[in-house]
Amino acid sequence: MDYKFPVTRTTTPKAKPDPTKLGFGKYYTDHMFIMDYDEGEGWHDGRIVPYGPLSLDPAAVTLHYAQMSFEGMKAYLTPEGKVNLFRPDMNAKRLRNSNKRLCIPEIDEDLFVAAVKAIVDADRDWVPNVQGTSLYIRPFIISPEVSMAVHPATKYWFIIILSPVAAYYEGNDKELHGSKIWVEEGYIRAAVGGTGFAKCGGNYSCGMIASTEAQKQGCEEVLWLDAKEHKYVEEVGTSNAFFMIGDTVYTSSLTGSILPGVTRDSTIQLLKKWGYKVEERRILLSEVLDAAADGSLKEAWATGTACVISPIGLLKFRGTDYPINNGVVGDLSQKLYDTLYGMQTGIIEPEMEGWVVTM
Ligand SMILES: *Cc1c(COP(=O)(O)O)cnc(C)c1O
Repeated sequence: MDYKFPVTRTTTPKAKPDPTKLGFGKYYTDHMFIMDYDEGEGWHDGRIVPYGPLSLDPAAVTLHYAQMSFEGMKAYLTPEGKVNLFRPDMNAKRLRNSNKRLCIPEIDEDLFVAAVKAIVDADRDWVPNVQGTSLYIRPFIISPEVSMAVHPATKYWFIIILSPVAAYYEGNDKELHGSKIWVEEGYIRAAVGGTGFAKCGGNYSCGMIASTEAQKQGCEEVLWLDAKEHKYVEEVGTSNAFFMIGDTVYTSSLTGSILPGVTRDSTIQLLKKWGYKVEERRILLSEVLDAAADGSLKEAWATGTACVISPIGLLKFRGTDYPINNGVVGDLSQKLYDTLYGMQTGIIEPEMEGWVVTM
């Protein structure tokens, strides 16, 4: 289906920020996409309008009961001046799954991808052109419905906003570094049966306390353990976690409490293509720490759209430091980063068919 969205251009375009000082999520572009949902009518009236504040009733459902879902993706400028998206169909599918869990009406995958393309195209001169930078895309759904009753809303807004960003972890735009990760034993992120596999706001508000405390311990992020036994490794902050022990790469299977990352899936597919042994299964924290102690834990890294590949240099557990690869970025982490980032930015030929969408 061919979707067309009317565009209302801003009459007061903003000055573009200095592309070497973007930070993450500090600046937003001139326009946004918005589409309404009304029960009986479905999703309708997708349109591009000037970026600006929303008018929400204080009793809007989303503000009280967090009925919302979101996505995170990026657009990259290629050396030819074109714009690349990376596997947007995967985000479209995941949003549908998040919506199902949160009783939010699903959005057709083609409609989602068409909306992302339309808003990126409207603000394509905002895609920054400095190494490591990109245009972060944040599609999200909220409900403006006025109701204090705890039941699914009948009215929603699907909105897409865009933010030119630097690398997620400061410094990683110049050179990758091994981050320090706090193994969290008390707080949990998500339990099986809950919303861990969905991208929804509530998952993140409940994780902030752990990352705040990890930072007080001199760590950048948290390694989450499973909610029931606190024995299995699950995710790193808002990224998926990988461990190379001996010659096998391990990542947690999608148990229901794991967010199915697009970068996770891409990493697994690339590793398999390159001939690595990859195992998706539940991984005991004790396996990882024993391997770190005896030197068989060769590398560990986190994957996510925001950071791409973020090597882990050290795990901190019960006051003991477990360095990985002496804190030095491993060859495989670096190769994965170079390949994924290279494909995304169009510096290298895509190794996988259909992953890169050029516009
Ligand atoms: C978004 C997210 C990821 C990474 O997913 P990508 O699709 O690779 O960006 C991993 N874990 C959590 C909890 C997330 O929210």
